[in-house]
Amino acid sequence: MSIEETSRQGMSIADLLKLSSTLQSVSDSPRLDVEVLLCHILDKPRSYLYTWPETLLSDEQGVMFEGLLQGRQRGEPIAHLVGSKEFWSLELEVNIHTLIPRPETELLVETALELMNKPDARVLDLGTGTGAIALALASERPSWEILAVDVVPEAVQLAEKNRRHLGFDNVTIRQGDWFEQISGQVFDLIVANPPYIDREDAHLQRGDVRFEPHTALVAHNQGFADLERIIADASQYLAEGAWLMLEHGNQQARQLRNLLSAADFVEVKTRTDLQGHERLSYGRCFPFR
Ligand code: GLN
Repeated sequence: MSIEETSRQGMSIADLLKLSSTLQSVSDSPRLDVEVLLCHILDKPRSYLYTWPETLLSDEQGVMFEGLLQGRQRGEPIAHLVGSKEFWSLELEVNIHTLIPRPETELLVETALELMNKPDARVLDLGTGTGAIALALASERPSWEILAVDVVPEAVQLAEKNRRHLGFDNVTIRQGDWFEQISGQVFDLIVANPPYIDREDAHLQRGDVRFEPHTALVAHNQGFADLERIIADASQYLAEGAWLMLEHGNQQARQLRNLLSAADFVEVKTRTDLQGHERLSYGRCFPFR
């Protein structure tokens, strides 16, 4: 072990927080990053860092902190370093096989809860990843029956682990490619946060996305391929008057609305996320097909 690796032993919380300056070139939130790493290592809430700034790390904690700090200096996402991410106040395990849940995806959860007032709704979450959307909906609506699918076996395992950990027995997780394993079933709501980024998008070279799987991020046809496929097939699996809700990129809203209307969806609308980006479009299956 090099001196560099052991050098954080015996340093106080206050001194370690100052190391956030070493993250300035890789992170928009260096201070918060170091706080989250410290909370993870100490297994304490953030308030502890400010109540006990003179606390010293043990040898083991010092080595662990250095490893995580170096990971972050290489740009690795905080969620990968600590192995979890909060979504809709649920603590979800995260790994390299799926997208890290994003705060903007809470808009989809919020909208689904607002528009779907059936107490016993049947819901399908396509491309569930960590299970974030399905589990957030389950946490709010224990009487809904929710099916979540993902094509990636490791994502299915992870979503199932998160489901079991949270103890939601109204969610079923299944492996499948979009609607492939769904034949014969009909839903009141279908939601998806599919891959929607164009492979040439410069955004893919920056920040956390560099460490996330392309299967969860990138789609052919300027990012529209999976969105189009879901819209084309969805009505076969929707009850009359049921909703289809899709997260998409901030330049894709108009085309999404056109695609939904062209597929005979009605009441087609777009909603804007907290950053002011058009992020979610949805429509309703025409009731009198
Ligand atoms: N919103 C994510 C991003 O821009 C992408 C999510 C997705 O492709 N579904 O990083």
